[in-house]
Amino acid sequence: MSMKERLEGLKILNQLDADVLELKKMGKTFPVRLAELEESLQAIKLRTEAERTRLDELESKHIGLEAGIAMEKDKVKKWEARLVEQRSTREYTALAREIDIVKKSILSQEEMFTANAQDLEKARQKLTEAQADQATQSRKISSEKTKLRKQVEKHEEELAAMALKRIELAKDVEPTLLARYEAACRHTGTGLASVAPVGTCRGCNMRIRPQLHNILRAEAIEACPSCHRLIYAEELLAPPPAPKPEVPTKAAPKTRKTKASTAIKAAEG
Ligand SMILES: [Zn+2]
Repeated sequence: MSMKERLEGLKILNQLDADVLELKKMGKTFPVRLAELEESLQAIKLRTEAERTRLDELESKHIGLEAGIAMEKDKVKKWEARLVEQRSTREYTALAREIDIVKKSILSQEEMFTANAQDLEKARQKLTEAQADQATQSRKISSEKTKLRKQVEKHEEELAAMALKRIELAKDVEPTLLARYEAACRHTGTGLASVAPVGTCRGCNMRIRPQLHNILRAEAIEACPSCHRLIYAEELLAPPPAPKPEVPTKAAPKTRKTKASTAIKAAEG
């Protein structure tokens, strides 16, 4: 079996393993997104609760002020009745002064009451807004969660299908080579990499020793000393470079550059 034949199945398996890794990486974003959604819903709920607390506080203040004013007014009424019964000027003046003080206090309490009533109205409005916002956001988040759960389900199905496919693909790889590959996978996730013609491992971008590169060129499959992936010389699998045109052309440097890059691309396969 030629090296090319031995590598063929392994390359396909390696691609699948790379796809699985990519998919699993993507899968890690699902719980993060789910947690973010939960968090934003929690924040919205907290806002509604804060508005509710504020409204409750203003309502009890409203009730307190209302009761206080009624009590003071009652007091004024009683004292005013008593005022006409006063015989001495001194007692009359003293009581009249007391009544005046209470009346002033009622006025300032009534001002507070009016201001509080305005705050109360605003707070009611804010709570209604927060509740409406919460309802809208809850619906939105809940539908996003459903979508996300479906994605997770699909993702799991895809992974399961890939696992089955992997079992099939692994059958096409020579058992000893497969064992070496899987050992390499335990280091890096994807256990196969080519070595570029310039002598760098495409798995880890490290330069390999020229002697090792020569061994690879002699159709061997070795391990990269840096990343432990199985490595092979890329040029052995690449199609032969396109033949150069016989007639020299007076092409502009730009055209020549294009041809050169095409040739490199062809060499890279
Ligand atoms: Zn490497």
